[in-house]
Amino acid sequence: MKIISFDGNQIGISDGQFVWSAAGLLKDGVPWPPVSAVRLINEFDTLRDSLRGLLHTEPLGPLDSVRLEAPVPWPSKLIAYPANYVSHNDEMHTGNRADVNGFFLKSPSSIVGPHDAIVLPDISGAEVHHECELAIVIGKSGRAIPRGYGRDHIFGFSCLIDVTVRGQQERVMRKSFDSFCPLGPWVVTADEINDPGNLEMRLSVNGEVRQGANTKDLIVGIDEMVCMASSVMTLFPGDVIATGTPGGVGPLAAGDQVEIWIEDVGSMSVPVRKGSAVDNRAFANRVAGG
Ligand code: MN
Repeated sequence: MKIISFDGNQIGISDGQFVWSAAGLLKDGVPWPPVSAVRLINEFDTLRDSLRGLLHTEPLGPLDSVRLEAPVPWPSKLIAYPANYVSHNDEMHTGNRADVNGFFLKSPSSIVGPHDAIVLPDISGAEVHHECELAIVIGKSGRAIPRGYGRDHIFGFSCLIDVTVRGQQERVMRKSFDSFCPLGPWVVTADEINDPGNLEMRLSVNGEVRQGANTKDLIVGIDEMVCMASSVMTLFPGDVIATGTPGGVGPLAAGDQVEIWIEDVGSMSVPVRKGSAVDNRAFANRVAGG
């Protein structure tokens, strides 16, 4: 099943061609904070049959008749694993590895949808890079989840671009600008992905392929990423895990069009535009790297 958000925090499902609203299945939908997706994921076991039943009713309209938004716009956490592909670690000349250094947090407010632009902060001399990543969306709460049981806590998967200012500033600051986390176009439920540890993925800029990899090359795999995060903090339904980027990262410029595709998950193409100047002394004092 493909879970979508659209047209002002409405929640629904799609078959890739048409759209059905699930508003009638949720008790009291509210426009803000946009947590309908989190509630749907939390209640999914009881809603599953009703949601499937929607597919046999008259759709709201074709998929392109609505404006898709981030499928999970308000997760309690956006967890990210850096240095999780050898090909990326090599290009960054870093000795960091996800199995040694673990994960970090990126601001959930950086999440935008498949029809939103990546807005580049105007920081003199700074490069802003694209990182092509598979996103895990948590389905069931868990703490200290044993190895081998992480997958039981996964609701589904999505495409994620981890946009990053390169530099020596704290990672959370470089990666948390508004719009720095395009997510979408939907969450594909885990039952539709045969093996998340063997998915081809690709990212292109203006039609030119920049990143191509397979999730089988992850250093810390899908199951273990869930377990490792849960060894520190309780995972909640809707939490998003960015699983790391393969080699081929590079700078984005205003006017670029960035397309991400992940096998069996989906694709989305987002524009890049110029933002305003950043009044932040840490970026003014920037040095290269990171
Ligand atoms: Mn990343």
